[in-house]
Amino acid sequence: MIRDPAAQEARLLAAKRLVEEVLLPAEAEMDRTDEVPASVLAAIREAGLFGISIPERFGGLGLTMEEEAELMLVLGRAAPAYRSRYALNSGGAAQILLHAGSEAQQARWLPSMASGEVVAAFCLSEQEAGSDAASLRSEAQPDGAGGWVLRGSKRWVTNGPEAGLFVVMARTGEAISAFAVPVGSPGLTVLPTQGKMGLRGMHVADLRFDDVRLPGDALVGAPGTGLKSALAGLDKVRLHLAALCAGLSERMVSEGVRHAARRRQFGRPLHEHQMVAAMLADSATEALAAHCMALELARKRDEGKLAPGEAAAAKLFATEALGRVADRMLQIHGGEGYMEGSAIERLYRDARLFRILDGTSEVQRIVVSRWAMQARG
Ligand SMILES: Cc1cc2nc3c(=O)[nH]c(=O)nc-3n(C[C@H](O)[C@H](O)[C@H](O)COP(=O)(O)OP(=O)(O)OC[C@H]3O[C@@H](n4cnc5c(N)ncnc54)[C@H](O)[C@@H]3O)c2cc1C
Repeated sequence: MIRDPAAQEARLLAAKRLVEEVLLPAEAEMDRTDEVPASVLAAIREAGLFGISIPERFGGLGLTMEEEAELMLVLGRAAPAYRSRYALNSGGAAQILLHAGSEAQQARWLPSMASGEVVAAFCLSEQEAGSDAASLRSEAQPDGAGGWVLRGSKRWVTNGPEAGLFVVMARTGEAISAFAVPVGSPGLTVLPTQGKMGLRGMHVADLRFDDVRLPGDALVGAPGTGLKSALAGLDKVRLHLAALCAGLSERMVSEGVRHAARRRQFGRPLHEHQMVAAMLADSATEALAAHCMALELARKRDEGKLAPGEAAAAKLFATEALGRVADRMLQIHGGEGYMEGSAIERLYRDARLFRILDGTSEVQRIVVSRWAMQARG
């Protein structure tokens, strides 16, 4: 993929307009109703965002990693539940199909994922297999006629209630394989999960597989290569998230600045009190650092120069910084920040997930420390 500066400038302008005119005005309603309004989903679809990480030949935006990171820095300023609805179509599920899918699988699924017609979900975690994903127990056995029989369960599948396709990791003997499982497959039960802390508008579901019969061509890639295929797309997912979280930190700093300028105590605006100014300064600095890190490492990935632990380091820094920024910006809002109805209260709840999702901070630290030991040992 080659960078196209003119097209990118137009894309960024359109994204800014989408954020300001469509996404921000609908945020509070989305949080209240736990639904993304249909008109907003239509605008997201029109902007091509379901295909944000999918190549052009399959109907996606065909972006370089740097272009994708720039776009996420802009789109990250809106509530992150929107992103969960569109970008996960391009995330784990699409990256496995791109990396290991047959031509027939790619042609069947990727164009309709890029257009948003089919919602795809990535299914790895289980009740007993979270950070230690390789210990998963779901199992697929040959059915003796060229197909497979899938048994087991999955927990907290993002977009599960809406999904038309589940890319499922299951054990085939000792190793783990990936399977494309369409919704409606007999024996597949989708159980929507209620009661998340934040990201309202994005839904999760648990899955149960009771002897789900799959044809031979449901297997994605060679048997036993599922986890390897999932890991192949992980750098991209981590850099995407790092840019998203940097954008969200910048948004929260803007919220803090607005409040600190408007609210007066002891006869002057809050930002004229040095301790409040320090919270703004530390947060703006950390947001900027996360922004620069995401962009620089996205560029390095495009050049094929990304070192093994760098994407994990970007995700770790951006999500941990976001946590600190969210906490300080809520503090600047005082009681107002704690009460339902303020943007900062919503975003604070949303922000908390990113230190857990797609590998917890502790898991990123394991990856980064291994790389640091290898690179510098
Ligand atoms: C809203 C939501 C959406 C999700 N969507 C998806 C999805 O679409 N697909 C999917 O497959 N999964 C999904 N997940 C699951 C998510 O990926 C896991 O929650 C995550 O990987 C952490 O696993 P866990 O929750 O089981 O925590 P655990 O693995 O039980 O970890 C608990 C704590 O122990 C720490 N810990 C664990 N092992 C170590 C270690 N070796 N060293 C140090 N600390 C350690 C962790 O960092 C964490 O702090 C989702 C989760 C949520 C909450």
